[in-house]
Amino acid sequence: MKIAVIGAGIVGLATAAGFADLGHEVCCYDIDKEKLERIAAGQLPYLEPGLAELTKRGQETGHLRFGSGSLPLPGDAQVVFIAVGTPAGDDGEMRLTQLWDAVERLDAWPAGSRTVIAIKSTVPVGTAERLEARLRARLPAGCAVDVASAPEFMREGFAVQDFGAPTRIVIGSASPEAAETLERLHAGLSAPIVHTDRRSAELAKLAANAALAIKISYANEMAALAEQTGADYPDIARILGLDPRIGPDCLGAGLGYGGSCLPKDTRALVRLASEAGAPQTLAAAAVRANAALPLRMARKLESALGGLSRRRVALLGLAFKPGTADLREAPSLRLVAVLKKRYPGIALTAYDPAAEGGAMKRQLPPGLALCATAEEALRGADAAIVVTEWPAFRKISAEDYKSWMTRPIILDGRNCLDADALNADGVVCIGVGRLPCAPAVSPMTPVPHDASVPSEPLEPVISTGMTYFRDEDRELYG
Ligand code: NAD
Repeated sequence: MKIAVIGAGIVGLATAAGFADLGHEVCCYDIDKEKLERIAAGQLPYLEPGLAELTKRGQETGHLRFGSGSLPLPGDAQVVFIAVGTPAGDDGEMRLTQLWDAVERLDAWPAGSRTVIAIKSTVPVGTAERLEARLRARLPAGCAVDVASAPEFMREGFAVQDFGAPTRIVIGSASPEAAETLERLHAGLSAPIVHTDRRSAELAKLAANAALAIKISYANEMAALAEQTGADYPDIARILGLDPRIGPDCLGAGLGYGGSCLPKDTRALVRLASEAGAPQTLAAAAVRANAALPLRMARKLESALGGLSRRRVALLGLAFKPGTADLREAPSLRLVAVLKKRYPGIALTAYDPAAEGGAMKRQLPPGLALCATAEEALRGADAAIVVTEWPAFRKISAEDYKSWMTRPIILDGRNCLDADALNADGVVCIGVGRLPCAPAVSPMTPVPHDASVPSEPLEPVISTGMTYFRDEDRELYG
């Protein structure tokens, strides 16, 4: 089948290269000419395992080619996937500018032929219907179009793997012909195909990401409760995860979720729900709980160091998760913002294995020294925070921490280090939701700092009444 893919981000390129690998004839477009040229030359602008190889294979077999920056489509594409970005602001409003722009640029196809436009981008409910109405008003008579919803569930860092083995293929359509065309297109993939209407497909994508966000936020709030009540969250997570009704995924506690999808899609769902008169209170709570995590970490750090104003702190990891160089809505950025705002005199260094090449550096906020190695970031630091669970960080030994740092205090914001082994070797490693470690953290001599900064350590608190938050927790939850 001949198909076109508009948008050469991770989703668009993985879709284009994936279908080319299945033997379809694919042309991939992007408005960013330079980006397309780099991709065509084998230099992908993002870190996505296996995608460069898949793209190269598609080019070599001739099944995958790239269109120029402008978008006149080959008139004979039977299916056009739209995989442009759909960012959402803090207010949850999804900006569909890229989508409308892409559609405006579509050339009419030959009269008498029928094209399926399948929206892969995550969009608000009703977008496919709006798009179809726009196209029908613009296209000459005889150009038949069906707009379908084909939401994408692939995970960043696993895009190639997830294209080849998706958990489900969702086809939201208003026409049996379009549904049948899309089902045929996916014939080479083995996954349950769910046919539904367009609105249900669009909402299912937002619902899926909000469900993950809620589970992650639940894990993080439970970890905070474990910490305050002297219980061990990793053990609790294991016990929860062994219940098949709960399952083990997304139960890790730490600095919360980030990336280009979960945060914006959950906010978008909350907004959509409020406008539709069916508020999603759980999703809204998940957003707030997630936003509180960097501040919780900052207070923990302050408690461990006895003040932060003139301290030097190293961040290990910046990407929103390992396996990617993506900083979009990464918890690291919020953590840096919180630390800089509350402790203006703090010095921050950072190391991320994916920072090589410079793309990450350009997205970093000012006042953060990006280092070429973990050693460089840790040298002279009073404490370190593990922000991203890159496997390489597990290889840093207790001896390394002790010889490089002024004082080896590690806040493991992803519970990915062997805290017991490090503690036994004289490093203070503090996890999230973990039992107090040995040796106990004795605060360093406090340094004078801004009086507005609460300096008391986090005392265990068990509330038996209806007062849910301590006064200082109000700051966490807004
Ligand atoms: P992205 O922002 O990385 O890539 C979008 C691409 O579209 C960019 O290369 C941009 O230059 C191009 N573009 C913008 N306007 C264009 C236009 N008018 N014509 C042609 N190209 C244009 O986005 P992404 O991460 O690949 O995600 C795409 C969509 O898929 C989003 O809606 C996202 O929410 C959704 N999604 C993403 C993931 C993920 O893991 N990244 C997973 C599932 C779903």
